[in-house]
Amino acid sequence: MNVVKFGGSSVADAEQLQKISSIITEHDERKIVVVSAPGKRFSGDEKTTDLLIEYAETVINGEEDEKLYRKIVDRFQSMVEELGLSLELVETIEAKIQKIVSDHQDDKMTMDALKSCGEDGTAIVLSAYLQHLGVEASYVNPKDAGILVSDDSGSAIVLNDSLERLYQLRNRSEILVIPGFFGYTKAGKLVTFSRGGSDITGSIVAAGVKADLYENFTDVDSVFCVNPNIVANPKQITSLTYKEMRELSYAGFSVFHDEALIPAFKARIPVCIKNTNNPEAEGTMIVSENHHDYGYVVGIASDEGFLNLYVSKYLMNRETGFGRKLLHILEDEDISFEHTPSGIDDMSVILRDHQLTEEKEKRVVSRIQSELDVDMVSIERDLAMIMIVGEGMNSTVGIASQATNAISAANVNIEMINQGSSEVSMMFGVKAEGMEDAVRSLYHTFFES
Ligand code: ASP
Repeated sequence: MNVVKFGGSSVADAEQLQKISSIITEHDERKIVVVSAPGKRFSGDEKTTDLLIEYAETVINGEEDEKLYRKIVDRFQSMVEELGLSLELVETIEAKIQKIVSDHQDDKMTMDALKSCGEDGTAIVLSAYLQHLGVEASYVNPKDAGILVSDDSGSAIVLNDSLERLYQLRNRSEILVIPGFFGYTKAGKLVTFSRGGSDITGSIVAAGVKADLYENFTDVDSVFCVNPNIVANPKQITSLTYKEMRELSYAGFSVFHDEALIPAFKARIPVCIKNTNNPEAEGTMIVSENHHDYGYVVGIASDEGFLNLYVSKYLMNRETGFGRKLLHILEDEDISFEHTPSGIDDMSVILRDHQLTEEKEKRVVSRIQSELDVDMVSIERDLAMIMIVGEGMNSTVGIASQATNAISAANVNIEMINQGSSEVSMMFGVKAEGMEDAVRSLYHTFFES
C-alpha cells in the first residue's frame, strides 16, 4: 500500500487534477491520497492558501472582503465546471467557509480553520472526480482519519496517538482522499501545521498505515544537489538518507518540509519524491542507508536572512551558566536560535533575521548589557548560511579543507564555521553578498571536479 501526496502545483487546476487522477489509478497500490491546496497555475499567480490567509485577516478585522472571497471560491468553481462535476460541491465548500466566518470568536481558531479550506476543498473535488471516473473513492476528514495534533495554532505537532488510529484506515477498500495541512486537538479543535505542512500529513498517514512507500509528487523531476537558481542544471540526487534530507530541507531546500521526514523515518517508510508533470522520471528516493554515487557530499543548501548576535566578556570561560542566561533572554522574547559558536571570551548566537524586530533588538541588547555585564554586544545582519551535507563526510578526511578552499577560491570570507558532532553537515556563515559565489565554487569542488 502506498500513500501518495500531491503538492500545490499538482492540484492547481482541473488539468492537474486529471493528471493526478491518472497517476493515482495507474497503480493499485496507490490507496491513500493526501492533497495540498491549489497552488500557482502560472508564474505570478496566487496560492489559495495565501488568499485564504488574507481573507482570514479581513474576517478577523471585521471587514470581510467579498471580492477576495469570490476569488477563492472561483478557484474551486472553475475546477468543478471544467471537470464536469456537480455545482453542489462548490456549495459544500462555500458552506464550510461561511460557517467558519459566522462562528468567528477566536482569531487564531478562525485563521487556522480558514487556512485549512484550501486542502479541504481540493480533497472534496478530487474524491468526487475519482467517483465520476467510476473509481471507488471517499473524502476522509483528518478528524475521522485520526490525525491528532498539539494545540499550537499554525505550527501544530502530530501526536503519537494518531498512529494507531490511522492504522484503521487499512480496513477501507476504496481510495481515500485526505486533505493535508491540518489535524485536530484532543478537544476537537482544528489546528494547521506550519506552511508547506501537507507533507507532514502525508508522512504521518504513511507511518500510521505502515505504507510500503510514501510518494510525494511535486513539480521537479528530483531533488537537485544545489539550488538550480544558483547553479544551472545541477546534478540530480537519485537517493539520499532521511538525515541528509532533513538537514538540506532545514537549511534551505524547499522540496520537502523538514518536519515531514520524522514520522516516515521512525516507521522506516521509504519516501520517493516524484514529478506530477513527468511521472516517468525516476525521482529521488529517501531511505535509511545509502550508497552514494556522488562522493561524500550529497547536497549544498544555502539561505540568506540570518544575523549574528555577538557577545564578548573577559573571562567568560570561567562563568558557569553564562550561555544559559544569554539564551534565556532570547527565550523570554520567544526567539529561537540556529547555532551558537563560541570562543573563550565570546559567544555568537545565529538567528533568523526576521525574529529580531527593532523593538525586540533594543530590549534584548539592553538586557544582555545589564544582566550579563558584558564588555560588548553587537549585531551583524545580512548573513547567509551555507551547509554541505552528506553522511559519508563522517569518516572522510579533508572535507573541511576542500570546502574552505572552495570558499576562499570564490574570494569570500568565512565569518564562522560550525560542524555538529553528528558530522552529517558542516555549516559556513558568510556575508549574504558572497553566498552565491561561494555556493558555485563549492558545487564545482564537490560535484564537478
Ligand atoms: N497549502 C499549505 C501551504 O501553502 C500547505 C501545503 O501546501 O503543504 O503552506
